[in-house]
Amino acid sequence: MSRIKIYNARILPMTEDTAIIDGGVLTVEDDRISYVGDGSDEPEGVQYDREIDAKGNLVMPGFKNSHTHSGMTFLRSFADDLPLDRWLNEAIFPREARLQDDDIYWCTKLAIMEYLTSGVTACFDMYLRPYEIARASEECGFRMVQTGSMNNFSQSLELQEEWYNELNDKNPLTSYLFGYHAEYTCSKELLEGLARLADRYKAPVWGHNSETENEVKGCLERYGLTPTEFADSLGLFAYGGGGYHCVYLSDNDIEIFKKRGLHIVTNPGSNTKLASGIAPISKYMRAGIDIAIGTDGPASNNCLDMFREMFLVTGLAKLHDMDASSVDANEVLKMATVGGARAMGLDDCDCLAKGKAADLIILDLDKPEMQPLNNISKNVVYSGSKADVKLTMVAGRVLYEDGRFSLGEDPDRIKKEVSRVIERMRDI
Ligand SMILES: [Zn+2]
Repeated sequence: MSRIKIYNARILPMTEDTAIIDGGVLTVEDDRISYVGDGSDEPEGVQYDREIDAKGNLVMPGFKNSHTHSGMTFLRSFADDLPLDRWLNEAIFPREARLQDDDIYWCTKLAIMEYLTSGVTACFDMYLRPYEIARASEECGFRMVQTGSMNNFSQSLELQEEWYNELNDKNPLTSYLFGYHAEYTCSKELLEGLARLADRYKAPVWGHNSETENEVKGCLERYGLTPTEFADSLGLFAYGGGGYHCVYLSDNDIEIFKKRGLHIVTNPGSNTKLASGIAPISKYMRAGIDIAIGTDGPASNNCLDMFREMFLVTGLAKLHDMDASSVDANEVLKMATVGGARAMGLDDCDCLAKGKAADLIILDLDKPEMQPLNNISKNVVYSGSKADVKLTMVAGRVLYEDGRFSLGEDPDRIKKEVSRVIERMRDI
């Protein structure tokens, strides 16, 4: 058994609002947290493999990046400054068609490196070749929940069912949920088939939803229903799930989200860069819908940085509402941790408490941007950055510490392999 003790910490467990334990102690046994508190009732006589003096720095749950396409790292800054439809059809799809298995394996590893530097301990990933994504994640020791990106051109109901059976309950770090790319890339028959699968396995379903005004307009023209109404009418949400982006939900869509217990994953960086719009987050919060935060993929954002996303969630909400009190930073921290874990079905990864997964980060409070410590949780959202991440632990293993990675792989090799992928596509 591996035992690690972190002491002399300020601990933000995210169990009850944003209260902080000063002089905190947190212990880990294998992949679980065995103690969190002020040390007064800490179990005695335990021998630790490693004791980490946190030096008064902040220990908190890792961020959950609740929507991304990790394998798209090869397309970062390759085709920018285009509207979404041209970006997808002219720049992205032709190159994705040329991807080989190993490509996605290396591209995913590069993304995992970036997640770790940003304090991300779990991702909700939607991309191609899920076996390769699972292999990359498991080898790195990183937690990855995948969902299907089925559409009329790639993936199928048969493959989704195979992946659902093969990628669940095999490794505690990886799992798979049913998903479709979006209403506008899927036929009605395909989505009806997915609803039957969801019913057979009593499982939630995920998809891009109401990302742009055009997407909603197209669905209304095709079916006389919004993307949410249409998906719900087919039975896709009978066992929950949710939508990525959700910039343009109608009042009736919000009712459906409430009734079905669906989650919204907001992606403000991508929505800003692609000029998709600003999601009305405060309206969704008032409706009592669970909200999580995602970076979206590295080709549309382009960085996989949860600090930037957190600032954008609150900053854009304030601008949208023209109200500086909209979406308090502490609510944003909840979305980035607890909300993400709930959306991804990671019930053990939401907060720091005995028995929960040891998925945590240490943030450097000694940095100028974190001083003074008037309000630590607000510092994290409003002035914090990934440069403050000292340590990222997933399932009890330190994968990143003070700029160094422990992934069982040479970081330079990962970067080289990803560069080779895009070099092969220069002729397109
Ligand atoms: Zn996306």
